[in-house]
Amino acid sequence: MNYTLGLHEVAAGTHAYLQPDGGWGWSNAGLVVGDGASLLVDTLFDLRITQRMLDSMAPVTSGAPIGTVVNTHANGDHCYGNSLVKGASIVSTDAAAHEMREVPPSMLAGLNRAPGEVGELFRHFFGEFEFDGIEMAYPDTTFTGRHTLDVGGRTVELVEVGPAHTAGDAVVFVPDTRTVFTGDILFIGGTPIVWAGPLDNWIAACDMMLAADIDTVVPGHGPVTDKDGVRQVRDYLAFVRDEATERFHGGMDAWDAARDIALNGYSQWGEFGRIAVNVDTVYRSLDPSHSSPNVVEQFKRMFTLEAGPR
Ligand SMILES: [Zn+2]
Repeated sequence: MNYTLGLHEVAAGTHAYLQPDGGWGWSNAGLVVGDGASLLVDTLFDLRITQRMLDSMAPVTSGAPIGTVVNTHANGDHCYGNSLVKGASIVSTDAAAHEMREVPPSMLAGLNRAPGEVGELFRHFFGEFEFDGIEMAYPDTTFTGRHTLDVGGRTVELVEVGPAHTAGDAVVFVPDTRTVFTGDILFIGGTPIVWAGPLDNWIAACDMMLAADIDTVVPGHGPVTDKDGVRQVRDYLAFVRDEATERFHGGMDAWDAARDIALNGYSQWGEFGRIAVNVDTVYRSLDPSHSSPNVVEQFKRMFTLEAGPR
């Protein structure tokens, strides 16, 4: 399947909405179409691009309106467009629903408008998006563990796998077409970022998908893949966990460790500077008293790594 902007039917009545190049904020979404009703997996980062997506889905959803939105996690590029899906029930894990309230669109709007170095840094990552005036629509239905939904006669299974990428990640299985929408449990072509961790939870989520009866894997960012894509992400996470753990026990500082680890082939992946956040998360899970830098410093470190010689 071509990795092009727009709606792609990956299996019967099962669609991926893709946004190349999958970098910061350019997330994917999914659409499961049943008899007279559809389910949307995730909305997008701002209202303009979410409306563009909903318009592209209209030929399909006119006969099967979106009755349910599932937010795979709390990051804005998967939920800030919720308010445009009028009348739909919004579902997420309990933890994701809580986390959504911590970073409202107005906060990113403020950072994108900030003067000086902070504003410049955020615009480097998020300057293409418009966060002003977004009214956030929060989940009305939350769950822990597993949650089964009926979508016009089709079964959709939500499985909580966080904390991993964030506090409340879930993946969405569509058993009748052997498809999974992974949210940001998979980045393909780009580097996973482990905000919450521990990395072991995320590795376990990959193992669970590798054991599942699936053929088609729609990542949160990047092109549609299969179990090979799951394996690559699993391998990266195990590599980072092992390399960071060794340096932690050797007494190396987390930021030094992030700069010390030789990424080899992984430096070809987009956003490879996320190693800074990932190593810090390993340190935090090994030592709960480890104090992580604030989010501005985290972005500064990623920027520094990606701008510097490698
Ligand atoms: Zn994302």
